Amino acid sequence: MSRGHLLEGGLVVDGSGTVGRAEDVLLIDERIAAIGPDLRARHDLNGIACHDCRGLAVAPGFIDVHTHDDAIVLQQPDMLPKLSQGITTVIAGNCGISLLPWQTDDAPAPLNLLGRESFRHATFADYAKAFEQAQPALNTALLIGHTTLRFAAMRSLDRAARGDELEHMATLLDQCLADGAIGLSSGLFYEPAFAAPKEEVLRLAQVVARRGGVYATHLRSEMQAIIEALHEAGDTAFEAGVPLVISHHKCAGPANWGRTRETLPLIEQLAQRQALAMDVYPYTAGSTVLREDLVDGVIDVRVTWSDPHPEAEGRLLADIAADWGCSQQQACRRLQPGGACYFQMHEDDVARVVAHPLAMIGSDGLPHDRHPHPRLWGAFPRVLARYCREQQLFPLEQAVHKMSGLSARHFRLHQRGQLQAGWFADVVVFDPARVQDRASYEAPLAVSEGIHTVFVNGRLSYRGGELRALQRSGRLLRRHAAPSSRPPASSAQLAGSGTALAKR
Ligand code: ZN
Repeated sequence: MSRGHLLEGGLVVDGSGTVGRAEDVLLIDERIAAIGPDLRARHDLNGIACHDCRGLAVAPGFIDVHTHDDAIVLQQPDMLPKLSQGITTVIAGNCGISLLPWQTDDAPAPLNLLGRESFRHATFADYAKAFEQAQPALNTALLIGHTTLRFAAMRSLDRAARGDELEHMATLLDQCLADGAIGLSSGLFYEPAFAAPKEEVLRLAQVVARRGGVYATHLRSEMQAIIEALHEAGDTAFEAGVPLVISHHKCAGPANWGRTRETLPLIEQLAQRQALAMDVYPYTAGSTVLREDLVDGVIDVRVTWSDPHPEAEGRLLADIAADWGCSQQQACRRLQPGGACYFQMHEDDVARVVAHPLAMIGSDGLPHDRHPHPRLWGAFPRVLARYCREQQLFPLEQAVHKMSGLSARHFRLHQRGQLQAGWFADVVVFDPARVQDRASYEAPLAVSEGIHTVFVNGRLSYRGGELRALQRSGRLLRRHAAPSSRPPASSAQLAGSGTALAKR
């Protein structure tokens, strides 16, 4: 096995957002040893594999900041849907739904998005042991879900947590953070968390603040009440003193189309007083469990899985309802437990959020769905192909920044997300002219084109088109003890945002 790799003559896009340059990158063991011109002349190449990267971009491995990969990294450690997009790190435990710290044999919605029988880990240490045994291909960092904490500490979830229950949740959370979890997530939109008042989340966010973690939230509403929900999230994080991530920002439902014109200025305003960023996936359909309240008879709904009716998977709910001679709501009820894609967004809103300088890319892919939303296999190449190359909403350097440097900085991932000598050698080599997602709603399991090679911790892990991980060298990333001294995404990020915003 080679002790390193020399990537020669590629366009080095380092993840910081600055303009790329044709240079060489030398990886030795798990680190980036050098970046510069003509490294061949200045380094001993004994045991080094050389890769001709002319015409290709060399970038930091992409960081998927919004995933539900907690269980799948253990169950399918090749992680091909992600690795094949150039992703080297996933952040799991989003939307209030984390695998730990709770054990059950039959997880209810929405926890069943992680697989109904996956909940086997009561502590971070347990999970870490399973991670080591599975040896996944990708680096993985964990958020701890507020909804999971509620299931672990409360008997009925249709009310606020009592004092003793809240202290139990705080203790469980603190232990996970002490062991290495990077923060807290919430999913106040989901029924098991909806009754939680702001004060409940604030108490937990304060625990996160003391440990130097982050708080990510699936807002209480992404529809009519989104402005109120944004204020709630902003105030919770601000009062606790934690960096905030607004998950998969969107304005959902035809009545709310166009309202990113209201939400983005509010988000910018909040970012003037507190560390804040958002993530986004580049599609007009969302996807989650089957819920009657999301079935309005207006938007298309496509079934992604159904336990009682697997034959319905991949079909439109309207067609199923027509076959059954019932309403879409009735069909939705009969298909549960299950999941669906909801075509609830407007393309202009999606583009506006993707282009925003505070937006990081997160797939929100659902790896346990049998007919999943195409974002699972295609989100990152789709941003590079559709929004960067075709629509030219932002330059390549900005696209990469949204997938690496911005993400690592905001989630405080230590020495990752940027190509820098001495940092970890997570690297993707891709063809900016040809990179293309191939996953569609009809055929969602498809490898993207144009991703040439992927290195995880210095190991060659993926070569374009091969349907397996060549090596698996991912690590469980633990919260870094000393938070970066650089400020997280702040008002400074907004400088220069004018072009992208003005264009829309
Ligand atoms: Zn969510």
